[in-house]
Amino acid sequence: MKTYVVGNWKLNFNVGEASIYLHKLLKSLPNYRDVEIVVAPSTLALQPLSLQIDRHKMKLAAQNGFYRDYGAFTGEVSFSQLKGLVDYALIGHSERRYVLKEDDKMIQKKVAAALRNKIKPILCIGETESERAFGETADAIRDQLLGGLGEVSDDDLEKVIIAYEPVWAISSTKGAKMAAPDEIAGVVSLIRKILTETYGKESAKKVAVLFGGSVTPANAGAYLTIPGVNGVLVGGASLILREFIDIIDIAKRVQA
Ligand code: PEP
Repeated sequence: MKTYVVGNWKLNFNVGEASIYLHKLLKSLPNYRDVEIVVAPSTLALQPLSLQIDRHKMKLAAQNGFYRDYGAFTGEVSFSQLKGLVDYALIGHSERRYVLKEDDKMIQKKVAAALRNKIKPILCIGETESERAFGETADAIRDQLLGGLGEVSDDDLEKVIIAYEPVWAISSTKGAKMAAPDEIAGVVSLIRKILTETYGKESAKKVAVLFGGSVTPANAGAYLTIPGVNGVLVGGASLILREFIDIIDIAKRVQA
């Protein structure tokens, strides 16, 4: 399986800044066949960047998309409109769950809509600080994982990527803490157990599971070597070109 390095730019970079960053990134990247490099810019930048990108070197992801393909949904952008521009889409990011109030039902429909439009969903799941403190991590993970995958068939499962991002470890969260690799290993193994119980061993083992939460060049090696982890989802550090490239280099070394 490939190792994934996914950069989530969130609400940063205007179209011009995004294009300059991409230009510099493409210039410094060799063609890494075993590392799938993905960036998720703002929706506005996707069209121009889709013309600029070298898809042999890296891919684009949307940060979101709507679950209906067309209709009276003012302000939304559908996966059918994103089709052809992106290969991946983040779905259920904690900022969308907790700031924009998306629930598992909506996330489930978005995962199905992405797959219907040939876009690979990166389903983000993770417990909050209080769920962790009350010993509810396993329940939160199970609910979000099975909720998000509710309409995904056995055949489609391998097209879905799971990003485990404990909310308390995300750098935009107040007082974010670095997650200990041992703790992450336990949750990743739980995710794989739930996938195996639900879809069977053969289908479950084809699913890539990423870790996200304050990943930097200093800790990427530790996270990328956790058993069952196939990559990282990087927020803050993906905005700093040098750091993002360093993380890609670490992924390449770990993969080799
Ligand atoms: C994210 O937004 O998905 C994320 C993991 O952010 P950060 O790396 O900044 O914690």
